[in-house]
Amino acid sequence: MTLTGKTQLLGIIGDPIGHSLSPPMQNAALAHVGWDGVYVPFGVKGAELEQAIAGLWALGVVGFNVTIPHKQRVMTHLAEITPLAQAVGAVNTVWRTAQGWAGTNTDVQGFVAPLVAQGRDWGGSRAVVLGNGGAARAVVAGCQQLGCGEIWVVGRDRAKLAAFAASWQGSPLAPPLQVAPWGDLATLLPAATLLVNTTPIGMAPHGDQSPLDVTLLASLGRDCPGIAPVAYDLIYNPRPTQFLHLAQSLGFTPYDGVEMLVYQGAAALEQWIGLPAPVAVMRRALVAQLEG
Ligand code: NAP
Repeated sequence: MTLTGKTQLLGIIGDPIGHSLSPPMQNAALAHVGWDGVYVPFGVKGAELEQAIAGLWALGVVGFNVTIPHKQRVMTHLAEITPLAQAVGAVNTVWRTAQGWAGTNTDVQGFVAPLVAQGRDWGGSRAVVLGNGGAARAVVAGCQQLGCGEIWVVGRDRAKLAAFAASWQGSPLAPPLQVAPWGDLATLLPAATLLVNTTPIGMAPHGDQSPLDVTLLASLGRDCPGIAPVAYDLIYNPRPTQFLHLAQSLGFTPYDGVEMLVYQGAAALEQWIGLPAPVAVMRRALVAQLEG
């Protein structure tokens, strides 16, 4: 593209930032829709976060994404935060308003988009979420948006699980959340139709690992005849992960982290430029980057 005097600026802040897949994905989208702007990676150290955010404002930046490790701390520098991002406790997308920067969390939308596209009624269903870290929070909010009747978060550290559960008390979302140790999976899975891996188990270079073995995984949805279980892995490298490879061999519907990444980016782009995001173009750019 040709940069002009009117070219607008979008970007992403994080540390480290060199691995981010968002710049190629968002720049492919901008070129496709013909919006005169560029999306730039900004490596921002924690100690310089406040200064960087003020600088982005002063430079007229239209909006920006936020990634690790700033997704929580950025919230103290915003004039407005959506109730969804407040409940999740993290912001990944920021845009300008007359009052200052506003922020939301599009990871939730990114997570639910492929499940919504399925057209299935998730009302009353049981979801089991592996892991209780940052991404699990967006997944819990997403499961609630879907209408899941039970959301079980499974982890290996009882104290962290208890803190995770407590952190939702008094939240405007109030998800139907329960927590359980890893050992309870055998009793939880048969009545569950959605299983989400939010742990890094199976991420490259450990692509031969899976959070569940095939025997345990095979029990997913066993007590729900006529409903095809969904296995969703937030990991996007390798494709497929061992978890999704096993799930597919058992006849489950698989979704990987590419979908979530594409749709969180699409939601952010639409917020910034007010045009429909070219999702297929974004997915192609992302996959090309992953395979390149
Ligand atoms: P995080 O905050 O570090 O949380 C990771 C969770 O996994 C923690 O609960 C941790 O347990 C658990 N865990 C790690 N190793 C484990 C093991 N060996 N056995 C059992 N549990 C284990 O990380 P995050 O930000 O939530 O990210 C998690 C994953 O999601 C990463 O793979 C990330 O790339 C992916 N992700 C993808 C997208 C996307 O758009 N596709 C977006 C966000 C994240 P403890 O708390 O006990 O340590």
